[in-house]
Amino acid sequence: MDGGLSLSQRCEGAKPPSLTTPSDPGKIEGMSERIIPLLDQRHQGLAMKIPTAPLPGEGLLRDQLHRPLRDLRISVTDRCNFRCNYCMPKEVFDSQYTYLPHGDLLSFEEITRVARVFVGLGVRKLRLTGGEPLLRKNLEVLIGQLAALRTPDGQPLDLTLTTNGSLLKRKAQDLRRAGLQRVTVSLDGIDDAVFRAMNDVDFPVSDVLEGIAAARDAGLGLDAHGRFSHLKINMVVKRTTNLDQILPMARHFHGSGMTLRFIEYMDVGTTNGWRMDDVLPSAEVIRLLQTEFPLVALEPSAPGETAQRWGYANALGRHDPALGEVGVISSVTQAFCHDCNRARLSTEGKLYLCLFAGQGHDLRDLLRNQATDEQLKAAIGQVWQQRDDRYSELRGRHTPGPAAPRRVEMSYIGG
Ligand code: SAM
Repeated sequence: MDGGLSLSQRCEGAKPPSLTTPSDPGKIEGMSERIIPLLDQRHQGLAMKIPTAPLPGEGLLRDQLHRPLRDLRISVTDRCNFRCNYCMPKEVFDSQYTYLPHGDLLSFEEITRVARVFVGLGVRKLRLTGGEPLLRKNLEVLIGQLAALRTPDGQPLDLTLTTNGSLLKRKAQDLRRAGLQRVTVSLDGIDDAVFRAMNDVDFPVSDVLEGIAAARDAGLGLDAHGRFSHLKINMVVKRTTNLDQILPMARHFHGSGMTLRFIEYMDVGTTNGWRMDDVLPSAEVIRLLQTEFPLVALEPSAPGETAQRWGYANALGRHDPALGEVGVISSVTQAFCHDCNRARLSTEGKLYLCLFAGQGHDLRDLLRNQATDEQLKAAIGQVWQQRDDRYSELRGRHTPGPAAPRRVEMSYIGG
């Protein structure tokens, strides 16, 4: 599917063809049922130029909407062992799907070099993602290299990783030893049948729960008060699929000290058949939680934080940190583009400034063509300064259908 055109009905929101066989309406005789995006966005790269004018001084880098650059998400693989239908639906990501060849991937040394340059531009937080990052061989080596990076004033970075938890039981100790501080585990339900259906590979929920326990035992996510508030559990809510898991998930993690967060189902990529009807607004999630748990609103813990925080309250109506907190990430109903301080590095070194972007900037080309660190810094800085995207805030204005903006898949760009 290298950049070529192929058939996609679901992806384009078009009606199914009228040519049907009587035995199976909707299917065309002799045609594969596989659904492929019309255009493979991975192969669309924007050339990066090395500017001649110097960048403004340290700490002053701002984009067109005055947003600083603070957070870099690094995708280390485009492969995943789950097939969640909102992210990597089986019909597209099947046995014939072509993943990026290994030689295209950034090496650990290249990733670390890029991260160091980003730190020089103001980045203070690094998140490893994918695909499923724990599928990348020897990931601990990369974590060790990233953990050794320092800010210009000698501080370590906030280093974290997002995982589906399937390999965490085996890897938690090694990750911690390598220097990882915390993890976010994606978990879309606590009921085994619901969870198996959502990951669509029949993966049992008990294995992920064991992974979370292993992360806690390894000390991942421990905060300064000896609680696990930095061990985060993320649940994507699809109204038609796992709404009934919200309260059971809250009951399960209540009192654990871990932070459970509910994410609105987003229209990332073009393969998940997203519909607004499937989005459960965060306000409804909070209303539902309040039927059982008294909650109090909490201040954001950092500028640009994606989640709105709520604390479990005690009998006096005050937040009791021992009970933990919940969060909601309302990227659809309360877009937070104005606060977005994130850049994303795809598995093969393209720089994306928005989760909903159609094209990335080809950083790998500069990296592999002898650009110096100063040149990389200037080129990245220039791209950031020109940034003016705010897809989610403009979502309602985008026309659905073939003319809609093209978006990369989340499994490729990283969550
Ligand atoms: N495999 C890792 C994991 O499961 O956490 C990292 C990659 S995954 C793409 C990162 C996060 O994106 C997961 O929490 C996943 O649930 C979330 N995600 C994927 N597609 C989404 C969508 N359409 N809407 C909201 N969140 C989504």
